[in-house]
Amino acid sequence: MKKALLNIDYTNDFVAPEGKLTCGEPGQQLLAYICELTSTFINNNDLVVFSIDLHKENDAFHPETKQFPPHNIEHTEGRELYSDLNSLYQDNQNKDNVLWMDKTRYSAFTGTDLELKLRERGINELHLVGVCTDICILHTAVDAYNKGFKIVVHENGVASFNQAGHDWALSHFKSTLGAEVI
Ligand code: ZN
Repeated sequence: MKKALLNIDYTNDFVAPEGKLTCGEPGQQLLAYICELTSTFINNNDLVVFSIDLHKENDAFHPETKQFPPHNIEHTEGRELYSDLNSLYQDNQNKDNVLWMDKTRYSAFTGTDLELKLRERGINELHLVGVCTDICILHTAVDAYNKGFKIVVHENGVASFNQAGHDWALSHFKSTLGAEVI
């Protein structure tokens, strides 16, 4: 079975201590696990997609403008991948099995050609890591479920600034989306 790793929103704004919408320590603690898993996928020639939130400054029409402080603004340091994951991406970005994909909504599928990139490679198993468990990971998992992909969520690779939301989402992945949580 062909598989892909969806590396979601592990950027400075969502993870670093000074990030604009940071998950704080629970997010920072994922670093080694995410880097190791990313390297494994790259080295095994499986697909790795960096699916990364993109916002423009003062976008009056974007629904998140009312919900959250400004974050992941284009061309800012806040939108760069956090710590060692950034260098890992830089070192491997020219490989055929490493893709960067901007997204502007919670789900990695919304408004992107993610599904096309997966289908043309015959990929039907998606591994999810990043943040936030109960927002972008959740919405991506729901879309993946509806599109018929097998879903694997890595418990040591996801976090949220909302612990109750994190716990709820983990159980929802298993009980309702049929995901494997490992
Ligand atoms: Zn956003």
